[in-house]
Amino acid sequence: MIPVTKPFLPAEKEFRAYVKTIWERQWLTNNGPLVNTLELKLKQYLGISHMLFVSNGTTALQLAIKALNLSGEIITTPFSFVATTSSIVWQGCEPVFVDIDPETLNIDAAKIEAAITPLTSAILATHVFGNPCDIEAIQTIADKYKLRVIYDAAHCFGTFYQNRSVFEYGDISVTSFHSTKLYHTIEGGAVFTQDPDLLRTMALMRNFGYSGVDTFSEQGINAKNSEFHAAMGLCNLRHVDDILKKRKYLYEQYMIRLGNLDVQFQKLENDENYNYAYFPVIFKTEALMHQSKAKLELAQIYCRRYFYPSLSSLPYVKHQPMPVCDSIASRVICLPLYHTLSLSDLDLICRLLLRAQNFDNDFKPKHFGKLVTDKIESEINITTASLNGTV
Ligand SMILES: *Cc1c(COP(=O)(O)O)cnc(C)c1O
Repeated sequence: MIPVTKPFLPAEKEFRAYVKTIWERQWLTNNGPLVNTLELKLKQYLGISHMLFVSNGTTALQLAIKALNLSGEIITTPFSFVATTSSIVWQGCEPVFVDIDPETLNIDAAKIEAAITPLTSAILATHVFGNPCDIEAIQTIADKYKLRVIYDAAHCFGTFYQNRSVFEYGDISVTSFHSTKLYHTIEGGAVFTQDPDLLRTMALMRNFGYSGVDTFSEQGINAKNSEFHAAMGLCNLRHVDDILKKRKYLYEQYMIRLGNLDVQFQKLENDENYNYAYFPVIFKTEALMHQSKAKLELAQIYCRRYFYPSLSSLPYVKHQPMPVCDSIASRVICLPLYHTLSLSDLDLICRLLLRAQNFDNDFKPKHFGKLVTDKIESEINITTASLNGTV
């Protein structure tokens, strides 16, 4: 069986070493030393100034909307995970959808202005599959209309935009450290902001609004995370460079094999700074997508329809037709991509897809000049071996 993703697990003894220290301290949660260490190490790793580790990516979105005191309408993308929209509705705001760019799959910045009304308070956009939005265009619009910007950067661990972590953009960026994400803390997430006041507000909100032993200066919720989750995060941080390299290698191997397939691939903002979090394939028709998906399932290879259906068709939002998103959502699947996916399994997946489109079994590899370099190949050989425990 080949699943669409597999969570990364460090060696059990690495985790046990941290757990032993938790037993010694008997400090389990409430801003403990491992949570503090993780926040510090993540800031160093990502080269960022501020972040708060929280319970998951969905509460991170809710905290962001609450901390910015948003109301009325929030402009957002219909092509994302359900939490992007449900958080807006949960916070009592109304999602107003703007269609996506057919190539980058991100919100189409050129269509945002037409959706702004006197009730608009913010733009909440997702960097889909880790591919950054047109951040400059979005910020220009936000400045012009005095709107706040939140980025759902749940897929973005390790993605950089103009030499800075993509988490540093917008008034607030949020991410998820759920087990299915490329870097995880089992369950977990984070909020990022450059604004010290917003940071303070979210820090208070994360812990019931406590500002002293018996004082509450903000409405708060429980968005804290535990020492055990932080321990997993600390273990996984040691491996994340290997995970990122391995994904890049696998992504390139997919591109080499599937380059001739009659499908569309996501256009990347900048493939040098991308984290290769997903491998989406967009078929010409929904029927072809189903046919290929079925062919893979016969061989016990499971893809996911990320993202289907369009969020603009959720039962609790005002239905808004989104022609580009509706079309892409009906034709897209993400192929299996995880650090332990073997080259022979990847080969099999590609052969089945090529065969589903009546390609010759002996595919002709296609080279994407910039993507495949000897340097990367040699680096990856080492990484692959070390992940398999042979180095
Ligand atoms: C995973 C994900 C979330 C939710 O994160 P959780 O940690 O599972 O709550 C939000 N938005 C996007 C785009 C996601 O992929």
